[in-house]
Amino acid sequence: MEKDWVSKFTSKYDEIYYDHVSEKNEFPEDFFSALGADNRFGLLVSNKNGGSEISFSEFVQNILDMSRRAGTLTYYFVAQNLSAKLFDDHGTEKLRSLLPEVMAGKAKVNLALTEEQSGADALSINTEAVQTGDGNYSITGDKYCVTNGKGADYLMVAARTSPPSDKKSHGLTTFVITEKQPAKTSFVSLGKMGLNFLPLYSVSFNGVKVSRDAVLGEIDRAWSFLSRTFAADRLALGAMFVGMGRMALDRAAEYAREREVFGRKIGSNQGIQFPLARAFIELSASEAYILRGSEMMDNGEIDRNRDIPMGAYYHSVNAASMAIDAALQTLGASGYLSGFVEKLYRDIRYYRMGPISEQLALVSIAERTLNMPGAKE
Ligand SMILES: Cc1cc2nc3c(=O)[nH]c(=O)nc-3n(C[C@H](O)[C@H](O)[C@H](O)COP(=O)(O)OP(=O)(O)OC[C@H]3O[C@@H](n4cnc5c(N)ncnc54)[C@H](O)[C@@H]3O)c2cc1C
Repeated sequence: MEKDWVSKFTSKYDEIYYDHVSEKNEFPEDFFSALGADNRFGLLVSNKNGGSEISFSEFVQNILDMSRRAGTLTYYFVAQNLSAKLFDDHGTEKLRSLLPEVMAGKAKVNLALTEEQSGADALSINTEAVQTGDGNYSITGDKYCVTNGKGADYLMVAARTSPPSDKKSHGLTTFVITEKQPAKTSFVSLGKMGLNFLPLYSVSFNGVKVSRDAVLGEIDRAWSFLSRTFAADRLALGAMFVGMGRMALDRAAEYAREREVFGRKIGSNQGIQFPLARAFIELSASEAYILRGSEMMDNGEIDRNRDIPMGAYYHSVNAASMAIDAALQTLGASGYLSGFVEKLYRDIRYYRMGPISEQLALVSIAERTLNMPGAKE
């Protein structure tokens, strides 16, 4: 794979594009299609199923590079590649047959896991899938905050297939609804603070039919592979946060070198220099953390070291938040006016609460790594 494809790609899909689509409040169709047309959604898929099968570390390097120019739009690059990998690793023959469309960006894949009443406690979801006489399933329940819920061509839906038992993670199954906006489904659009290019919906299923061969992994055992995918997601998003922080920092340093008030460049004041230098150091530390985690992912060591993706996510979302805030302060009023830095500021705020919140990243390390008492499964 050619090394500089990301820099070519982001020479078009850059800060200006990110700012522009964020203003429009729309799904960035041309960004998404361009990645698909360039075969960039099958990077982690095996060669035997038509993918590029690059290492996770190489994928993460692509994310670091892309997000420094395209900012949070990189989310779609992350999510579609990880979804394709799920189809490749855990899909039935039917689901794997959909991979060419997914890898070409002709079909968008999204995940409906969260429910309003269970929130971050994903193992307590109530959506049910009941087996029908013909061996297929019928899904009923309400999902909340589903990215691109209405625009998804393939919606991965987590549902309970067995009642909760002592082991909370048992009894969940992930189905793939392979029809866009299927019958017996309703959508409500949700307004939000940032991430304007990311349409968000509540999605209600009322007896939606799904075939037995549209299941990822095994019935009742979705959590085992979902939790592994979430570990990859934490590292991949962490790389995106580092890029977002650097995007803001690049702009702030440039402004600090040029802007003159009180008869001197603002960048000659230590009050401006130090927060930006500190942000640089924290972002570099996050990058090292993420690259170490990615290497462990490639070497099959991550299952035994789940603190690494949690810690890397926590560190990078905080480093990026700090960098973007310092950049905004440096830019003064010009940063507060509409532009890509204020958009990064609003976008990064979400990632401190999801897909894993800061607190739950800390809870995980406290309880699973440091073995402190808590609400372990
Ligand atoms: C923009 C956006 C996109 C999203 N996309 C998707 C998607 O595509 N698919 C999907 O399924 N979901 C999606 N979500 C949902 C998202 O993953 C959830 O918001 C997230 O999991 C947290 O749930 P909650 O907000 O209901 O928090 P709650 O569970 O209500 O928690 C509220 C607060 O309490 C804290 N808290 C909870 N328990 C503890 C504890 N034990 N210790 C300390 N603090 C605690 C939390 O960290 C949080 O700060 C999206 C949400 C948003 C806003």
